[in-house]
Amino acid sequence: MNLRLLLTSVVILLFASSTYAGAGYCAHGNNKRAAKTTVASPAEDYYDVKHLRFNINLTDTSVYVSGNVITNAVVTASSMSVYTFELDSSFTIDSAFVNGAMLPVTAVGWVRTMTLPTALIAGTAFNTQVYYHGLPPGGTGGFFNGITHSVSSGGTHMVFTISDPYVAKNWWPCKQSIQDKIDSVDMFVTVPAHVRDGSNGVLLSIDSVSTPGSWTFHWQTHYPIDYYLISVAVAKYREYRSYWHFSASTDSVLIQNFFIDTPTFNPAYKANFDSIGLFIDYFSSLYGRYPFWREKYGVCYTSLPGGMEHQTMTTIGVPNTYIIAHELCHQWWGDNVTYQDWRDVWLSEGFATFSEAVFLDHFWSPAAAKAHRQGLLYSALGDACGRVLVTDTSNSDSLFHQQTVYNKAQAVIRMLQYIAPSDSVFFSVLKTYQQNYALGHATTANFKALAEAAYGVPLDTFFNQWIYGRGYPIYKVSWNQSGSTVYVKLIQTRSCPSYTNHFSTPVEIQLHSLSVDTFIKVYNSLDTQIYMFDWAPTMTNAYLNQNVWTILKINGAITHDTKLSVGMLDQKEFKVYPNPTQNHWELQDTNEGLALSLSDITGRILWEGKSAQGTTQIPGAKLPSGNYVLRITGGSEESNLKLVHW
Ligand SMILES: [Zn+2]
Repeated sequence: MNLRLLLTSVVILLFASSTYAGAGYCAHGNNKRAAKTTVASPAEDYYDVKHLRFNINLTDTSVYVSGNVITNAVVTASSMSVYTFELDSSFTIDSAFVNGAMLPVTAVGWVRTMTLPTALIAGTAFNTQVYYHGLPPGGTGGFFNGITHSVSSGGTHMVFTISDPYVAKNWWPCKQSIQDKIDSVDMFVTVPAHVRDGSNGVLLSIDSVSTPGSWTFHWQTHYPIDYYLISVAVAKYREYRSYWHFSASTDSVLIQNFFIDTPTFNPAYKANFDSIGLFIDYFSSLYGRYPFWREKYGVCYTSLPGGMEHQTMTTIGVPNTYIIAHELCHQWWGDNVTYQDWRDVWLSEGFATFSEAVFLDHFWSPAAAKAHRQGLLYSALGDACGRVLVTDTSNSDSLFHQQTVYNKAQAVIRMLQYIAPSDSVFFSVLKTYQQNYALGHATTANFKALAEAAYGVPLDTFFNQWIYGRGYPIYKVSWNQSGSTVYVKLIQTRSCPSYTNHFSTPVEIQLHSLSVDTFIKVYNSLDTQIYMFDWAPTMTNAYLNQNVWTILKINGAITHDTKLSVGMLDQKEFKVYPNPTQNHWELQDTNEGLALSLSDITGRILWEGKSAQGTTQIPGAKLPSGNYVLRITGGSEESNLKLVHW
């Protein structure tokens, strides 16, 4: 799903010369509805939905729905004496059947229950059929209504469904559990003959005979699908079909787009959507073959102020290529592998948002990608105590909180790429995740385990800081140059100090001269840390995070501190012998109990210990030759000594 304000920092059309006026923001804060953390009734988990057969009537001028839905399911509880489903209370149920027997339906709010004459035992297959009609509380804006009617500026009426996160009940009798993927769906939609409809899967047939003045579209999917990814869009559409042939393969995928069939539909928009095949090919190379290629990919163009990643058929209202890419990437992130729990929705939105800059980097330019990442990071930093993991899953605003679930999460993924042994290892983790959990569900812990296995290191600290934790580091930065030695000092504080004591994090430092720049990855593991580099060019400034690899904020201006150095004065107070050394060092004349830490010039801590009374050995026998920093802390006092190994 994408409902944010479009960033103005990025030029928005890839293949068209005209510009787009910009989309509005979905005022979802005004449309909050009661929501929940899981199914509305535990009785919905008594069964596993296998197949749905919709037979519904829709128009393009009203959200009125009538028809019936057949559910084929299998009992999973040891014994099931009731059949419970959700359907908004605005609907009238005309009749309802279980295994062909008509039964009464009782309601508590939108939770509907049928008491079975005989309890069904675990493993029993059964079917239900619910006939219903009504005018649900549809909206006009798009998100969080279930079903929407709107009229475009050109006067085109349209009706489309958006069930995310808990409003499928506003247009069909359903079980709203993300953990129960439906194995297959037949969608029969009857609409007036002047409009068409788009939906999931393959368009098998169009029946223009059975109902005079109307026609019935039969869509079918055999890929497992979550309830919130089932959709229908109805408008005066023109259909555009093409096939994209995958690189280095004889396979192809159908691309089936539905655009408003009026002269006002901008051909430049169509050109952007016509490029989807290229995008599918590129993301298939990164994440694995487009998951639903045997059926199709397509978009239904609507007035939606953003996009929604309905499986194999995105509903979209903006023509921006990076939004098109965002929704396309959801077909992997969210649709193919769905989060097991709504708290983990970053596994969908974070990766789709991350993919936007990946897209811009490849199809536009590194500069466009960088500007995009900077915009997203700037937004994320606006939430001082923001957390990626969702705390309140009953609330649409927190489930789809742009600054955290989208923008901070994509920055965390970017950082995970930065700490990877290589880009190929990073993308192999993404591909493996897609393969291992294909057409199913996964959790944050599942993803973390794959990354740890591939990286060969534990990532507890990383995930605790960035997914489960809150806030981010803030740096005061100063630098100095003495001959060919550069010193950079970082002082870290936190945006949300009550939650995180210290962020152990990589940081990219840029050394700048008039003729050359150097980018260095260092590890910041201390609140105050001095780094030194051998760098001969005459330095004019230092910068942090220019390539937007990590999450951080810079406190004030970066200063040139001509007094900044390592060990120049301190060494008179603490004696180190021998220095340089080929073996270990001895720190002499110390008091007992001073905290010692030895790090390399990138800030990676190699050894930590406490001083003894008199003399303390600093181990160095196995270290490669080079410069090191020994940090000595006692009370509020701190000294940094330059040690040399040769
Ligand atoms: Zn999204």
